[in-house]
Amino acid sequence: MRALLPLSLVGLLLAACGTSPSPSVPAASSSASHAGSLTPDPSDDTAQVVPAPGSDSEVYSPNPGAIVVAIDPGHGGCLDWGVPNPWDNTIDKAEKADTLAIGMALRELLEAQGITVVMTRTDDSALAGDRYPSLDCDGPPWRDVDGNGEAGFEETGRTRTRDELQARLDLANVARADLLVSIHINAMAQGDVVHEIAATQTFYDDETPWGEAGSGELGRRVQAGVVDALDREADYRRQDRDTQAVAYYIVSRQWRDGDRCETRGDEWCKPHRAAQLPAVLAEVGSMSLEAESELLASDEGRRAVAAGLYEGIRAWLAERPLAVRYDALVDGGGAGIRPPTQPGQGAPFWAAALPADVAAEGALPVRLTNTGTRAWPSGVQLLAGRGASGAPYLTDAPELQPVEVEVPALQPGESVTLTVPLAPPPAERTLAWITLADDRGEPFTDLGSPALQVAWEP
Ligand SMILES: [Zn+2]
Repeated sequence: MRALLPLSLVGLLLAACGTSPSPSVPAASSSASHAGSLTPDPSDDTAQVVPAPGSDSEVYSPNPGAIVVAIDPGHGGCLDWGVPNPWDNTIDKAEKADTLAIGMALRELLEAQGITVVMTRTDDSALAGDRYPSLDCDGPPWRDVDGNGEAGFEETGRTRTRDELQARLDLANVARADLLVSIHINAMAQGDVVHEIAATQTFYDDETPWGEAGSGELGRRVQAGVVDALDREADYRRQDRDTQAVAYYIVSRQWRDGDRCETRGDEWCKPHRAAQLPAVLAEVGSMSLEAESELLASDEGRRAVAAGLYEGIRAWLAERPLAVRYDALVDGGGAGIRPPTQPGQGAPFWAAALPADVAAEGALPVRLTNTGTRAWPSGVQLLAGRGASGAPYLTDAPELQPVEVEVPALQPGESVTLTVPLAPPPAERTLAWITLADDRGEPFTDLGSPALQVAWEP
């Protein structure tokens, strides 16, 4: 068992490296009660493990509430209807209406199994603004969410789309969802020529750290689930297109130096705050075959698709060995809570700020829950670092160092609350980044479990 550093000593060590450009490193203890004492209390060496609550849920029965699924019903709002429907384009029969109805039905299925769900939208709205008087759209004002200096709706639709998708990614990231499913409907058409084909196709990016094993496998599960469900429902021929590694914005890996966009000088065709979790974009069907357009506008068709997505998610979670959920036990840091919308300009969702008393006390209570299917191996370790940033949250890990705290080898669904000592509050806005690493030192972030981030807001 690792010796615990008393908090008072930790504080001195951190103060000494406060001027260093590299992030300071908090250490942790299983109790906040060491302050002022140089002798750790042996009774505090092992924090109390809370047993998995257990349930009869079909989805992650050890502890379904600890699993957070982010559902993104594609498109929405006054301006963004999604693809044109060649057979109809009324408010009840548009891509944005189909995706919303499917998303809401999927939420119902997951919540009935005890799963926590966050939705990017629950009505016909947009997150990054929707105001364009010449088309009679008088929604909220535009926000430059991605931070490229531009906001609004222009001819190509590019600026609006990127800000909107970045806002949806931010929401999933700040909620630290286990996975993100973006729901879309395709239309197979070239110019005026409509290809009367019904097909399901699922996209993911294989270049994220968790790549094929994370997003790829999730994509294959989701694709199989939706194809099965629609095959049962459809009385017409379907020609499914399988999964494909195509880095559409919402599933893309992060922008990195050296990347180029198609348009010279453009540096925003990939997200600068990419999904920090496995993400797939499911084109669940296509409305360019009239029969499928009709089916996707019906309650039965939409419920069938939702059931297919549900089955894919269930199957994927049933085979995920190592995963963790962190809950900072402070306001806004808990499980699956939709982060509050920040008013004004810029990104609507930000990492939770540390309450003043927690920052002053220098001790952050964090609950860790094993959300994988395997017991954590002994040697699982907490890593932490911090980085100054004016962004909503950090997109890459700062320099990480081990936190001196014993992490029990939790069984699936079990949880434990540890107290993570914090370095003294910095002068500028700074984010703490906390993650587990497995017994070989691989951070769980590289397995697709987003890090816990909390912010000092001076
Ligand atoms: Zn779409």
